[in-house]
Amino acid sequence: MNKPIDFRSDTVTRPTPGMLSAIHQAPVGDDVFGEDPSINELESKTAAYFGFESGLFCPSGTMTNQIAIKCHTQPGDEVICDVNAHIYQYEGGGIAFNAGASVKLIEGDRGRITAEQIKANIQPDDVHRARTSLVALENTANRGGGSCYDLKTVAEIRAVCDDHLLALHLDGARVWNAIVAQNENPTHYSRLFHSASVCFSKSLGCPVGSVLLGNQTFIKKARRIRKVFGGGMRQAGYLAAAGIYALDHHISRLQEDHDHAQMLAEGFQAKSFVKFVLPVETNILIFELNDGQSAPDLVAEMKKQGVLAYAIAPNRVRLVTHLDVARPQIEATLQVIKTI
Ligand SMILES: *Cc1c(COP(=O)(O)O)cnc(C)c1O
Repeated sequence: MNKPIDFRSDTVTRPTPGMLSAIHQAPVGDDVFGEDPSINELESKTAAYFGFESGLFCPSGTMTNQIAIKCHTQPGDEVICDVNAHIYQYEGGGIAFNAGASVKLIEGDRGRITAEQIKANIQPDDVHRARTSLVALENTANRGGGSCYDLKTVAEIRAVCDDHLLALHLDGARVWNAIVAQNENPTHYSRLFHSASVCFSKSLGCPVGSVLLGNQTFIKKARRIRKVFGGGMRQAGYLAAAGIYALDHHISRLQEDHDHAQMLAEGFQAKSFVKFVLPVETNILIFELNDGQSAPDLVAEMKKQGVLAYAIAPNRVRLVTHLDVARPQIEATLQVIKTI
């Protein structure tokens, strides 16, 4: 049988020959001493791309998010986020574990929350209450089906944060997809957010790595916390070199992934067992099955036909397009969709 076509996540990509060669040639040093030229370059290049002062290379997006939350809060504080946020759903309870903070969850629209909702959920200044200190947004929103914020909404949110002295953090694991889909100027992100976590191991196709962004004071504090979390690496410039390569070569191609997700959405839309497909804005496709149908069963059936997807809920299936699925595999998948 042919190799399965893997839509479980955009984390499954392997380095391209060009990326591997960049990894091979990377100059490296001890990054805990600040001496790895490739890491220093990736941090400053990523910061410049978004207009932030500084960056910090970390092994995962979970670590960059958790360091940011730890930096922005004190134990007992409260973090406001959408109920489906990765920081709450998929980081092992890290907000409580690492920062000792609690969470105020908001029911957003496909992962996106509004300034009004945030305002209504800020705790009053009262000794009985937790102190609200941080708002975290996700762009694109993973469980929202890759939905994108309108940056005008984010500007309204930032104004509320400024009024109430709250920090605003971006979980930008797939921010590159939003930038391409919405044709945004990346430097707007540094005007809107106090900190941002961006991932190289998702849509940009790198094996490992995320960068935390912010001003110099914030990153200095974050560097200390990264060490405490065990994330101070040594000659990790081999990993950073992949990120530098991806910034140069893998951003503009993301439109192709978005087109592919749209094609798959049309395929599933036509199936009688599909109740609805969430609007496709980027590289994530989520659909819900009719009542009584099981997502794990459908995923198992697709697997038999060589197509891997992920049951994100008992009745919801997710497919993610990425660098390692090209047009012929999308066409093969559309044929499989017709037969199931
Ligand atoms: C993948 C992801 C992360 C980080 O995950 P790691 O696997 O720890 O790198 C953070 N936020 C979102 C929305 C993600 O999809």
